[in-house]
Amino acid sequence: MHQVPAAARTPDGRRLLTGGRVVTPDGVLDPGWISLAGSVIDATGRGEAAGPGRHVTDLRGHWVLPGFIDMHVHGGGGASFTEGTAGDARRAAGFHRLHGSTTIVASLVTAPLADLEARAAMLAGLAGEGVIAGIHLEGPFLSAARCGAQDPRHMIPPDVAAFQRLRAAAADHLRVITLAPELPGASGLIEAAAQAGVIAAVGHTDATADLTAAAVDAGATHATHLFNGMRPLHHREPGPVGALLDRDEVTCEVIADGVHLHDTAIRLVARAAGPGRLVLITDAMAAAGMPDGRYRLGSMHVDVAGRVARLAGDGEPGTAGAIAGSTATMAGVVRHAIAAGLPVTEVAAAASSTPARVLGLGDRTGALRPGLDADLVVCDEDFRLVAVMLRGEWLNGSP
Ligand SMILES: [Zn+2]
Repeated sequence: MHQVPAAARTPDGRRLLTGGRVVTPDGVLDPGWISLAGSVIDATGRGEAAGPGRHVTDLRGHWVLPGFIDMHVHGGGGASFTEGTAGDARRAAGFHRLHGSTTIVASLVTAPLADLEARAAMLAGLAGEGVIAGIHLEGPFLSAARCGAQDPRHMIPPDVAAFQRLRAAAADHLRVITLAPELPGASGLIEAAAQAGVIAAVGHTDATADLTAAAVDAGATHATHLFNGMRPLHHREPGPVGALLDRDEVTCEVIADGVHLHDTAIRLVARAAGPGRLVLITDAMAAAGMPDGRYRLGSMHVDVAGRVARLAGDGEPGTAGAIAGSTATMAGVVRHAIAAGLPVTEVAAAASSTPARVLGLGDRTGALRPGLDADLVVCDEDFRLVAVMLRGEWLNGSP
């Protein structure tokens, strides 16, 4: 990463970032300025800010975006949330923070219930420390017919008692559960999740459009990586893709990495979903930021070649060759979405403010707005990451 010029602190802890193109919820301030008071944004404005007695960071030629919020990520930098120690999970979170994700929800994959309980309890400790913003259970109540790179041996029908055990293990830090609505008992589980304040997300599913619509009626409000791991859209049977896009109350994740979706599909989802419903995620695994080779995703082996992760074809159950988790970072998917033609303001909403709102964090982070945490990302003119600020502190050393 390049370094931006240093900004020392004034005695009252106030700093000014000036000269950049600042992407706010009300549009791009070009040039714009951001005033920081300690760990929070204290004001923003258009034009050249004068800062008498204040220390200024000149961001001319740079974009300033809100810090990214990745609500679906399994690992990165050679470490993961799905296996290994708490130290490994910290490493994975740290890798993604350095690549722009100032808020991270750690995603688990299908595993035996006892293993998931143990992982959830470990991650709950990290959530309590603020290393992650919560836990996403991507399983085990998923369709074996759409298992993707997950282990179908451990997929089970929805079970409210099992869900409550997992929720207890996660100690109030369970934020999202992905489930397949066609499985018996799904609507009861969706209702239990909604009642507990856990987002019920539809994913890894072979449901019809009608069954999916019934799941939304029951309280499902989110789509787990739309298109991937679900029955495809057909004009007479629109399936989960059609039914989820069709409902205004549903937010839709997309993996905009150039591997999981054609750019046309990314643009179509952005248009069909409209403002405030698109959510960019990485779905990254340990291999993100690492060389090609063999990695684990839960109990499954994944081979990464040319940065594309595919389920290894060595006799394990599941769909050998299926595209597995990605090797993306949020900085990468943001850059890709912009290159695919999405306006920068829409991309910033999809990468930050919409996931913040979905997770109930919109009053703390997710936008460059006074009163919110100073979580921000600085990119060059081509949207290559230059620096990341988390709650007022530049990461990767003081720039
Ligand atoms: Zn995933």
